[in-house]
Amino acid sequence: VIKVGTPDKAVVTTCAYCGVGCTFRAEMRGEQLVRMVPWKDGKANRGHSCVKGRFAWGYANHKERILNPMIRESVDQPWREVSWEEAIAHTASEFRRIQSSYGTRAVGGITSSRCTNEETFLVQKLIRQGFGNNNVDTCARVCHSPTGYGLKTTFGTSAGTQDFDSVQHSDVILVIGANPTDGHPVFASRMKRRLRQGAKLIVIDPRRTDLVRSPHIEAAHHLSLRPGTNVAVLTAMAHVIVTEGLFDQAYITERCDWDEFQDWAAFVSEDERSPEATASLTGVDPDELRKAARLYATGGNGAIYYGLGVTEHSQGSSTVMAIANLAMATGNVGREGVGVNPLRGQNNVQGACDMGSFPHEFSGYRHVSDPEARAMFEDAWGVPLDDEPGLRIPNMLDAATDGAFKALFIQGEDILQSDPNTAHVAAGLAAMECVVVQDLFLNETANYAHVFLPGSTFLEKDGTFTNAERRIQRVRKVMAPLNGFADWEIVQMVAQAMGLDWSYAHPSEIMDEIAALTPSFAKVNYAALEEHGSLQWPATAAAPLGTPTMHLDGFVRGKGKFVVTDYVATDEKTGPRFPLLLTTGRILSHYNVGAQTRRTDNVAWHPEDRLEIHPHDAENRGLHDGQWVSLRSRAGETTLRALITERVAPGVVYTTFHHPTTQANVITTDFSDWATNCPEYKVTAVQVSPSNGP
Ligand code: SF4
Repeated sequence: VIKVGTPDKAVVTTCAYCGVGCTFRAEMRGEQLVRMVPWKDGKANRGHSCVKGRFAWGYANHKERILNPMIRESVDQPWREVSWEEAIAHTASEFRRIQSSYGTRAVGGITSSRCTNEETFLVQKLIRQGFGNNNVDTCARVCHSPTGYGLKTTFGTSAGTQDFDSVQHSDVILVIGANPTDGHPVFASRMKRRLRQGAKLIVIDPRRTDLVRSPHIEAAHHLSLRPGTNVAVLTAMAHVIVTEGLFDQAYITERCDWDEFQDWAAFVSEDERSPEATASLTGVDPDELRKAARLYATGGNGAIYYGLGVTEHSQGSSTVMAIANLAMATGNVGREGVGVNPLRGQNNVQGACDMGSFPHEFSGYRHVSDPEARAMFEDAWGVPLDDEPGLRIPNMLDAATDGAFKALFIQGEDILQSDPNTAHVAAGLAAMECVVVQDLFLNETANYAHVFLPGSTFLEKDGTFTNAERRIQRVRKVMAPLNGFADWEIVQMVAQAMGLDWSYAHPSEIMDEIAALTPSFAKVNYAALEEHGSLQWPATAAAPLGTPTMHLDGFVRGKGKFVVTDYVATDEKTGPRFPLLLTTGRILSHYNVGAQTRRTDNVAWHPEDRLEIHPHDAENRGLHDGQWVSLRSRAGETTLRALITERVAPGVVYTTFHHPTTQANVITTDFSDWATNCPEYKVTAVQVSPSNGP
């Protein structure tokens, strides 16, 4: 029993882990946070939470946290603690020196999905207004950038269509490439409640996740596909729906481009795309696939939820569009209980994307080449802006190894651990003259940094996060920043040192600027957030209280767009040397690369990453449970312990990536999505063999 006593004060704020966006009451005694209590009025969680938000906040006071700025002339030198004044002046002068030596486009930055909307907006503004280019990217590059591309192309906007409450009206729930029990636990509970009430479930996943069968829940259909064949499976479902006449002609005629539908229908109807013809490719039983397609098309309100098992593929954008095609063909967009819903990973990945963190888009997803949008920002910021898209993260790294890109500002992102092909990331960082890392801890990327600016936790700042249902919620300062400044103040100091006339006194002023420059945020301000608790964008004059369900009377782009998505096999092939396919995921108690959860008591519940392997594959290799194994791919090799389980099919292995000792991204390749460069984390050809340990 933990006795925390009566708190001196309590502040309502938002969890900084996943895209569910649970609200908590942070209880303080003196300057000590003693308890996080799920907030019953939180619209995303309604008083529920998971172990991360409730218990895993000890990292905020962890002894490894860096509280003083540091600089060093080269990465083989020891760090030297300096004053904030010196660190900021040095950072600004290095960016200016490099731009005058190598050109305006030789520098760039990466925003953080862990930071607030206001902070990510300021980082992209620093790059566009201060650096004079569009070399800004965000961690969505490695997770949901295909969602941005796919949903914008088909529906006209880069976000999920529903609020979480919508699932209560669903009759059929199709979950593809997602494990919400571990990744989005509070939303998973709401989904499971609906399933227990009788909604039918279809799971498309190479792994037998908890959703497939757990107490009181059993999926009607589990399509256990071979990793990398999402598009072929979804196209085979479309084949069934079109050839059996199960599409919603009235909806399509009214809401979509009919000519494009006909082209798409002709494509998916071809015999070679039938469940039977593609079964040897996908590994999915054709009868089961036909039944699943019929259920989705005819079972009532059909809602699709998906995760990184959709996006982190060489065909990630095609898969998102294939999902959108299915939803439009069956009339399942534009009312409660239906829709296409990406389960966004990080707490504010939706917000980071909304705020213009992409090299081709301003806030609100307007292209930098759009003269009207650019003129709006030029008027507000008083400088001409670059009309050419900037570099994505992998392109920045490529340009660095080629000598054309020299300096990078990285806020709250450990790209050496989180991005694919670690050797490629390391080579790019090592080739730069100035890497500035702003973070809580000396992360792996900081090994290549020249300046370290200590970051602040979500407990130490005001701002907003936007969750997976487009819900903008307040983050409220619980305690003073241990490092002295909130992240938005640090970015402002860098901007001022570079000669920009920024003078924000509070994040609410930054939000006012966002609202003035971003049509979908027009009615968002701190007073409205206080009054209503949260707002779901678009919040406009026509919908000042926000928009829980999108595309009600028509798609944002006008007519919904059917896109032909041909299946193209990944270049990552199995063969005699690498006969197994590795796919990756998360576990409930940890978060991503574990920078925070590894520095809390959660580590006791999951102290290491394990390699799941089917009993047949284990037996063939003479492996026993818990044994150390070597995991090798064309890109690299690592060592971890085996977990023998039928959760994975023969030929497939699976691991999490929460511990740096695992170095899962030493194994992953640098193949990526054709449209967005999102890495193909979910398919790597590997071999597994016994090992003596690391
Ligand atoms: Fe909620 Fe996600 Fe935080 Fe868990 S990690 S408390 S589900 S926001």
